[in-house]
Amino acid sequence: MAGVKLHFYGGVGTVTGANFLLETGKLKIVVDCGLVQGTKLDNEENRKPFIYDTSDVDILFVTHAHMDHIGRVPKLVHDGFRGVIYSTPETKALAEVMLADALVILDKQAKEDGVLPFYNEDDVKLTLDLWKMIPYHTVTPIGDSVQVYFKDPGHILGAVMIEFRRNGKKLVFTGDLGNTPTPLLRDTEPLEDTTYLVMESVYGDRNHEDIEERRVKLAEAINTSVEKGGVLLIPAFSLEKTQVLLHELNDLLLEKKIGKTPIYLDSPLGIKVTAIYKRMTENFNAEAKKQIAEGDDIFNFPELHIVQDGEASLELDHLPNPKIIIAGSGMSNGGRIIRHEKKYLTKENNSILFIGYQSVGTLGRRIVEGAKYVQIGNEEIEVKANILTVSGYSSHKDSDHLVEFVDTSADTLKKVFVVMGEPKSSLFLVQKIKDNTGVEAYHPEQDEVAVLDM
Ligand SMILES: [Zn+2]
Repeated sequence: MAGVKLHFYGGVGTVTGANFLLETGKLKIVVDCGLVQGTKLDNEENRKPFIYDTSDVDILFVTHAHMDHIGRVPKLVHDGFRGVIYSTPETKALAEVMLADALVILDKQAKEDGVLPFYNEDDVKLTLDLWKMIPYHTVTPIGDSVQVYFKDPGHILGAVMIEFRRNGKKLVFTGDLGNTPTPLLRDTEPLEDTTYLVMESVYGDRNHEDIEERRVKLAEAINTSVEKGGVLLIPAFSLEKTQVLLHELNDLLLEKKIGKTPIYLDSPLGIKVTAIYKRMTENFNAEAKKQIAEGDDIFNFPELHIVQDGEASLELDHLPNPKIIIAGSGMSNGGRIIRHEKKYLTKENNSILFIGYQSVGTLGRRIVEGAKYVQIGNEEIEVKANILTVSGYSSHKDSDHLVEFVDTSADTLKKVFVVMGEPKSSLFLVQKIKDNTGVEAYHPEQDEVAVLDM
C-alpha cells in the first residue's frame, strides 16, 4: 500500500489524552496513550474502550512520561495489546513511578465509585515487561520500510520528538515542546527536512513572560513572604516542575539571592522523581552537567529537608516559621498540599506561590483567581494569605516560539497537523503558521484519518 494512514484518536480539540495511530501497510504503530485529564483520574472518557483493535497494534511509541501521554498505556495492555513499547531509558524509569502512583489513586477512586479500576497492578507489570528502550539520536529500523529517530524537544527529562522516516520522507510527532532555553535540559532541536508534522498547541494562542525574568520573580516572591515571617506554600507538579524548582532554589541560595530559610519537600512522588533526575543526568544540557561535574548536587542544598512519610508531614505544623513547603499536587486537586492549604491559607502573613498552569475546576484555579472563600474537604476556608504567581516556569513553548519551530523546516513541510490544545488555541496557531511561514496547517477532528504521501 502506498502512503501512510494517520488516525487522530486522542489529544484532538483538547490538551490531554494524546493517542495517534499510524498504518504503514504492514505495521500498526501507536504514538502515546495518555489520560484524558479532568477533575478525576477515573472518569468516563478514560474508561471508554479504544476505537481500534488493541491486539492488532504492533508497536507503541511513548514521547514522554507525563500522564496525559502515558496514563492509558496499562489500559491498552489490559485491553489486549501485546506488542513492543519504545521510549528513552529516562521515560521508562519515570513512567514506572508515575504509573505506580496513578494506580493507587485509580484504585481509591474506583472503590469510591463501586467499580473495578480500568487497569490493575498486573497490567502495569506487563506494561513494563513489554517496554524497551531506544536512546536519543539512534536510527532504529522497524519493519522493513520504516526507520525511527528520537530528537530532543527540551520538554522534560527523557522526552522525545519522534521522527518516522519512510521512502525518503519524514513524519515528526513533537510530543510536548519545551519552553527552552532552560537551566537543566537541552534546547529543542530544530526540524530537518520534515515532510509532515503533528504538533502540540497548548499555548498556541498565548506568549509567556520573559524566561530571563522568572528567577528574579521567584526570588522576589520568596523574599517577600519570608519577610512576613509566615509560611510560603508552593504547589508543584512532581515531574519536572519540582526538579526545576529545586535546581533554581539551589542556584538562588548559592548566589545569595534568597536567605537561608528551611525548605521542605513534602511530596513522596516528587522525591521519587527527583531521585531519577539525580541518577539519569546524561541528557541534561552542558551547563547543568558542568555544574554537577564541579561537585554541585544541583537538586540538594543544606536548607532542603525531605519529608517522606505521612507522620513527618504532620510534624511540619509544629516547626517554626518562616518556612517554605513544596508539595503536590500542582493544581491542588489531590496530594499533601491540600492539608497545608487548609491550615495556612487563613493567615495574612502566609503566602502561596503558583508556578504552574491551574486548570478550570481545580482548587488551585479558585485560589489563584482570588476566591475569598474556598471549600477544602467539608470545610469552608477564608483565604487571607498572599497569592503570588510566576508564570515563566511553563514547560511548553509559547505561540511565537511554536511558529518559529515550524519555520525551521518551512521549505520542506507539506502539512502541519495542529493538535494537543484547546480548539481556540489550536485554530489560532493554524492561522498563525499559515500567515507567518506559508506552510499548510490543519486542525484535525477527533477520529479523523489523514493519508500521507510517504
Ligand atoms: Zn508534557
